[in-house]
Amino acid sequence: MLKKKHIKFFERLLPKDYIYSEPGDCWAYGYDNSKIHVMPECVLFAENKTQVQEIVKYCYLNNIPITSRGRGTGNTGGSVPIDNSIVLSLEKMNEVIEIDIENRLAIVQPGVINKTLQDSLKKINFFWGPDPSSLDYSTIGGNIANNSAGPRAIKYGTPRDNILGLEFVSGTGDLHKTGVKTSKGVVGLDLTRIFIGSEGVLGILTEATLKILPLNDSIKTIEITFDNIDDASQCIINLMTQPIAPYKLEFIDKESIKLINTIKKNHYDKNTNSAVLLEIDGQSEYIGFMLEKILKVIKENNHKRITIAEDTSEIDKLWAARKSLSPALRELGGYKINEDIVVPISKLKEFLKSLERISKKYNIKIVNFGHAGNGNIHVNLLFETEEEKKSENSKKCLDEIFNLVIKLEGTLSGEHGIGVIKKQYIKKEIDKNTLKLMQDIKKQFDPKNILNPNKSI
Ligand SMILES: Cc1cc2nc3c(=O)[nH]c(=O)nc-3n(C[C@H](O)[C@H](O)[C@H](O)COP(=O)(O)OP(=O)(O)OC[C@H]3O[C@@H](n4cnc5c(N)ncnc54)[C@H](O)[C@@H]3O)c2cc1C
Repeated sequence: MLKKKHIKFFERLLPKDYIYSEPGDCWAYGYDNSKIHVMPECVLFAENKTQVQEIVKYCYLNNIPITSRGRGTGNTGGSVPIDNSIVLSLEKMNEVIEIDIENRLAIVQPGVINKTLQDSLKKINFFWGPDPSSLDYSTIGGNIANNSAGPRAIKYGTPRDNILGLEFVSGTGDLHKTGVKTSKGVVGLDLTRIFIGSEGVLGILTEATLKILPLNDSIKTIEITFDNIDDASQCIINLMTQPIAPYKLEFIDKESIKLINTIKKNHYDKNTNSAVLLEIDGQSEYIGFMLEKILKVIKENNHKRITIAEDTSEIDKLWAARKSLSPALRELGGYKINEDIVVPISKLKEFLKSLERISKKYNIKIVNFGHAGNGNIHVNLLFETEEEKKSENSKKCLDEIFNLVIKLEGTLSGEHGIGVIKKQYIKKEIDKNTLKLMQDIKKQFDPKNILNPNKSI
């Protein structure tokens, strides 16, 4: 339990209802989507940067670990308060401070929900690129800390490609500003990029200057099905090597097709092996021409069926099939390991075929789907019982998958991050010297290791 004197300090700093210290209040702030739960020592809510600074300064002087938290939708335990941490929730810092379309930027506080920002931008025909599937609930702060993105990352990138500058409080309580408000700038080191994806271990984000873009007014959605993985992989490669950048390019494998067909009543034809869901965006004057061009590329590939959505209800139907996968997997039972692996697109075919071999070798059902245009595949290992999930067999299987990813020059996480869950695997990807350099950098930002200690690096 946090000492009474510490609580007393926080009570002097914050309004009474901005401090939770009773277990019943704190409980919900002890977990995220990793399902790990650790009871917080206490939960604090800050509503401005001065409060964040005062809290961190106090914790620095008193060696109190802090876990920063957006909305707790992360998948790897990043916002779970391990190591007797207090939780600092940024959810009340939820103001869109400025939208400046002439300079294509928006300035926001970290607790703004992604969807809230997108809704404000949509009214003036603009958008912010990153679109994680959790955008209805997750915060910009969490998106930045995890470099989170969704299907349109293939064309519009992740937070790393869509941020001009940041403001954050480091582990001593000092306030720092990084980046510029212009599309060019090369003064000093690029601390913005170091901070993005750092999973709350370098500082607590208090403000972000985001790069925003005008919205296109037209989207075309196409579903392509295949007899085998070779044809599907080749089609993905061919789509990526022609000049019309896909807006979204999703892949669905054989096991996913079976699963969708059970829920969506034979959405796919019998014997369909795999499918690709493709979207392009553009101005309505040109979209027809773009569609023609892209269909020519698709038709040059071996395929089973091409479906072009003609209206919003058909678009929704195609997406409903793809979107039914995550809930369907959840309903199959809780015994699942969900990885978000990335491989270079040119190696997708080898990767997917090797996964079939690994699945047979360990007798574990593996369901694969995801953002094929980025080579980012959600690899889901399914088990019948908790014992099977925790078994040696399952560990060896996962180990072999990770070794394969590294051999193919991919990365162990495209969007979920390392957090607590994947910490044991980071050394597979990052060599000893480089990892030490990262840990030394953390010491500069957070000399007493109070910010999200023992996570990520
Ligand atoms: C149904 C579902 C779908 C999802 N889909 C996607 C997807 O498509 N793509 C994707 O990338 N992810 C996805 N995720 C994962 C998750 O939503 C993202 O990682 C999201 O960005 C987390 O945001 P959050 O506000 O919930 O952050 P939290 O989970 O609260 O925190 C995440 C991390 O950010 C840190 N953090 C939070 N706020 C700050 C701050 N102000 N300063 C410093 N560090 C901070 C935390 O300490 C933690 O390490 C999904 C999750 C769910 C449950």
